[in-house]
Amino acid sequence: MTAPGISFAPGTVREALARAKALGLDRLDAQLLLVHHLQRPRSWLLAHDDATLTPEQRERFDADATRRADGVPIAYLLGQREFHGLMLQVTPDVLDPRPDTETLVEWALELLAGELAALPAPQVLDLGTGSGAIALAVKHAAPRVCMRALDASAAALAVAQGNAQRLGLEVGFALSDWWSALVPPRLHLALSNPPYIDGDDPHLAQLRHEPLQALTPGPDGMAAIERIVDGAPTHLEPGAWLLLEHGFDQGAAARQVLQRRGFTAVATRRDLAGQERCSGGRWPG
Ligand code: GLN
Repeated sequence: MTAPGISFAPGTVREALARAKALGLDRLDAQLLLVHHLQRPRSWLLAHDDATLTPEQRERFDADATRRADGVPIAYLLGQREFHGLMLQVTPDVLDPRPDTETLVEWALELLAGELAALPAPQVLDLGTGSGAIALAVKHAAPRVCMRALDASAAALAVAQGNAQRLGLEVGFALSDWWSALVPPRLHLALSNPPYIDGDDPHLAQLRHEPLQALTPGPDGMAAIERIVDGAPTHLEPGAWLLLEHGFDQGAAARQVLQRRGFTAVATRRDLAGQERCSGGRWPG
């Protein structure tokens, strides 16, 4: 690990970063883990690379660096993730919120400020809320909405509820397998980032630390999207919008499912990487 001619004092910040690098960690991830275990700002870390870690700090940092090298999301190790400007607590019970999902939030906020602007208290729902990321981001940016959020996992709902409480945002949570437990009133806007990865997609192996039921609906990656679209109309007001996140190669399929069910103005939005990421449409009623 030690390059010839360079000596590392045992137990220093510099040595800890070198060990993490040898494990294959990004420098930023290693710094974030150190910041977390030393309870110091990153600026302090950068100026104190010969500061000494206590044996406990060293042990905890090394254990987390090893987990990170094994593919555990940095958010689980830090216990938090920033999403759309909000700091969310995340645990392995919920999907690690992705920046891609901010595309869905932005579209929802545009509708609330545009086509749905005349509604004083639009009824909005997040299906499969996980950490609460979508519901909380929308409620935070558009406080007038009446926000509800569903999830089939009680453990995920507990995480989402904790986030709502910490952030002081009012969201009505309920345990529900997609639409099954939803009660009136009908919605003006329904949002979801459902599981959409095909069950046999090799990409799932890299995501093995996240809850499988949040990533894949089973063999057919479109199954949850189809269920949500099929069940939507009985819960939507005329003129309501349904927006769904999907895989980069599922745009055409998602548009077709929406159009077949009778949605109008069906469109797709791309994420920051330029991939088709969200599709949605208006329910004519
Ligand atoms: N976007 C995630 C990924 O591909 C999957 C999220 C999901 O299935 N809803 O890593």
